[in-house]
Amino acid sequence: MNFESKLSEVSKRIKSSIIRELLKVANNPGMISFGGGVPDPDTFPRNKLAEISKEILENEHRFVLQYGTTEGDVELKKGYINLLKKYDGIDWVKDENMVITVGSQQALYLVGMTLLDKNSYCGVSRPIYLGAASAFSQRAPKFINIPLTKDGLDLEYLERELEKLYEIGEIDKFKFVYAISNFHNPGGVTMNLEKRKKLVELAEKYDFLIVEDDPYGALRFEGNKVPSIYSLAPNRTILLNTFSKVLAPGLRLGVIIGDEFLIRKITMTKQAADLCSPSLTQRLAARYIQRYDLYDEIAPTIKLYGEKKDTMMKAIEENLGDIKDIDWTRPEGGLFTWITLPKGIDTMEMFEMAKMEKVLYIPGEAFYVDEPDRNTMRISFCLPSHEEIHEGMRRLRRVIDKYAKE
Ligand code: PMP
Repeated sequence: MNFESKLSEVSKRIKSSIIRELLKVANNPGMISFGGGVPDPDTFPRNKLAEISKEILENEHRFVLQYGTTEGDVELKKGYINLLKKYDGIDWVKDENMVITVGSQQALYLVGMTLLDKNSYCGVSRPIYLGAASAFSQRAPKFINIPLTKDGLDLEYLERELEKLYEIGEIDKFKFVYAISNFHNPGGVTMNLEKRKKLVELAEKYDFLIVEDDPYGALRFEGNKVPSIYSLAPNRTILLNTFSKVLAPGLRLGVIIGDEFLIRKITMTKQAADLCSPSLTQRLAARYIQRYDLYDEIAPTIKLYGEKKDTMMKAIEENLGDIKDIDWTRPEGGLFTWITLPKGIDTMEMFEMAKMEKVLYIPGEAFYVDEPDRNTMRISFCLPSHEEIHEGMRRLRRVIDKYAKE
């Protein structure tokens, strides 16, 4: 049977994730991987979670083993509202402004499904988080690819593109700008306050929404916290957050915060997708954040990531610093740095050599929805040890030199 002929147009276009394919070799013996962006599993509070799991299964089984509402567990929402008040000074969020999702990945999918049509435009960073690109691509919108600079999106570029859409009478089809405000994946950069304000101004002028994705904001190891775009423009911003990087990704819990009307529409889309998020993990997270201070608990993890980032910066400087035209980002938090090598180096092509030298990175071309900058790579510093970071960078230098000779 010709299964292909039965596929939808969108499914025909879907490709398997390059990252997943590339990282299949990450566990080969002796491999040093700067590839995966997952948190260190040793940092998950497994004993505390085990204790609470037992308690809720025994005492709250009527809730945790049952279907829940699509909107999400009210106890988790209460806990999250408290976190927003305590850590972000946001005191206006109510139950109706919030829906609990199966990770931020589902949130991205639901936002795309709720806001985009085939002829819609959306603004995304260039490079872009791969998962957002694939979620939005389900609607086949037209992407406006906004260059990412050291302090966030290039808003002058965005403004020129918006002006063009205005002139051709298409501006009402521009639905939103997708922004990873802190410690961008894959870019490692943070949007500064001035740009956040400017983005809000543009959103008001051209009447579009901002989708702020902030999975890494809590993982700041230096510098000062910047107010969220959501806090600057709660009426125009949909804020996505997740428990994946601050508690455990296996719980698959995310949250969308925004205007009541939009949240209701997104909730209806979610209803069609999965009826509700898992009651068990929602209540587990709810009791955890009730009992423990989420951010105090992850402080040691953040310290660890910060130390590894310092080691990574030193190792890059020492091993790659003398390469002509090389550039890399210096993250103040999160898990990634983004390296730009001299033009002419194709990091996908070089990947085979890297595998032989037993060092892995993610070739930058995985993070573009248009013609990629092939001389880029994403480097994650959270999992390898300090020694592995140094050794991995020595290997990477050998790979670059070998590639340059051939
Ligand atoms: N957004 C960004 C920018 C991410 O990096 C990730 C995960 N790597 C997600 C969303 C999705 O995370 P999750 O579904 O685990 O919440």
